[in-house]
Amino acid sequence: MLLTRSSCGPILSALLSLVAPAVAQEAKLPPLPVDRAAGALGIRPERVREFLTTLASPEFEGRGTGQEGFRKAAEYVRAHFEKLGLEGGAPDGSFFQAVPWTQSVARPKAPGLAVRRGETILWSLDVEQGLRGYASTPSGVDLPLALVVTSDPEGGDLEQLELKDHAVIVVLVRTGEPESDARRRARAGLAARSRIARAAQRAGGRFLALADDAAWATAGTFEPVSRPGREASGPAGVARGNQPATGVLRTEHGAALLAALGDATPLAELVLPRKIALDGVFAHLAIEVEESQAPAWNVLAILRGSDETRKDEFVGVGCHLDHLGKRGGIVHPGADDDGSGSAGLMAIAEAFAKNPTRPARSILFMAFCGEELGLIGSGYFARNPTIPLESMVAELQIDMIGRNEEGERGEEEASDNLDCLHLIGSQKLSDDLHQSCLRLNERAGFALEWDEEDVFYRSDHWNFARQGVPIAFFFTGFHPQYHQPTDTVDLIDFGKLARVSTYVYDLAYELAQQEQRPLVDAVKWQELSGKSREAPAAPVRN
Ligand SMILES: [Zn+2]
Repeated sequence: MLLTRSSCGPILSALLSLVAPAVAQEAKLPPLPVDRAAGALGIRPERVREFLTTLASPEFEGRGTGQEGFRKAAEYVRAHFEKLGLEGGAPDGSFFQAVPWTQSVARPKAPGLAVRRGETILWSLDVEQGLRGYASTPSGVDLPLALVVTSDPEGGDLEQLELKDHAVIVVLVRTGEPESDARRRARAGLAARSRIARAAQRAGGRFLALADDAAWATAGTFEPVSRPGREASGPAGVARGNQPATGVLRTEHGAALLAALGDATPLAELVLPRKIALDGVFAHLAIEVEESQAPAWNVLAILRGSDETRKDEFVGVGCHLDHLGKRGGIVHPGADDDGSGSAGLMAIAEAFAKNPTRPARSILFMAFCGEELGLIGSGYFARNPTIPLESMVAELQIDMIGRNEEGERGEEEASDNLDCLHLIGSQKLSDDLHQSCLRLNERAGFALEWDEEDVFYRSDHWNFARQGVPIAFFFTGFHPQYHQPTDTVDLIDFGKLARVSTYVYDLAYELAQQEQRPLVDAVKWQELSGKSREAPAAPVRN
């Protein structure tokens, strides 16, 4: 992702050099109105620290949708909502809206990856002997073998070869000095595997396996794969991310296969590329796959409004509970992304639940799953809403609200951005909502920035905006740890996180309490949706 320099940093930096640090400013800000002030007292730095320390703990393993860590995180948030006395927001009255998500467990069948002539097995390799690989769909078709020996890790050689309707096994002969840095070697292995697979497929082949030590070292042993599942009401109604069975083996196993086919020349002495396709020789990799529903829920809770007529209207407050989870054995804790928003949501829910005065409208708290894989949970919600989307007066999204924006190359210092907050998308649909955001910021005191990073389409609010629900997205900006395993709790600014949460609480309260809900401006809707689209979910000011 591209990091762009924001406008606020330099101005603030000049200001800060003259006056006291940003926190000192808060004392001068007007207090919250009396109807909501008591609840806001609970949104303290220590409280959000407590939530986030748990959400980003090793036990939750980065909250990868479909993984065990996500199940624990969802259970943690559900228990919190329940303890606060909130209503479950799912259609069955529970707190979980199940989102179709599939876990595939693949099992190679004996003899694993095998090459045969007639009934005679010429060569084979199973998991016990070191076969590794990936699969999320069953396989087992016999196809004529094309064994390709190449020294090109980009797969360029393969595109020159005739591989149509062949089972392609590639032996990669690496030339030059072996890479000594383990991380670089791993990267080279992963790159070779995906490039060679794509090249083989482009040449018409069915890619079956790669023999390369670097790729082998990074490969899993047909570990469970989880991905968005089949959705009856979804756009295509099909599962996404199917992974055809591919094997990964050591280079020496590739040499043994070559020898089994009658060529005992050492790999280093071959003239490359070399393709061997013998009459009557077939190959296959037989995989059985068992599928089950994996842990994936939108965690939903409702605080019921106090006004008889307006309680059927909702202010939505959303975050994404998921992060990248455990990938290749490495946990991505996602403290800021979006542990911060999830902790904020828990604190905001607590503030509403403990505030003596309930607002007129209801509040719907939403912790989505599958955001990191393409806004899956919120997309599912928008297609299968648990309340009519027309009744959602606004959706306020908090995603990454616990840091101070920081450039990748030191072009922007976190210390210059203590007061900065990006307000995104509030002008896209409804000037009413945008004006409310600006007006309430007079007591939040942020130096607001806008969508300099072009992230309007990159969090869950987009699935509401596209349906015509007015949205506002709050974001404290990118930093070098974005999507890295180093996005950890110790880098969070808890004072800032509590402050953003208080602002969003105040705004949600205001929208739930004020007489008139935000209207969509017809011209803005036309710009956003194009002329062909239906009317927006929210009422329009013409
Ligand atoms: Zn993310």
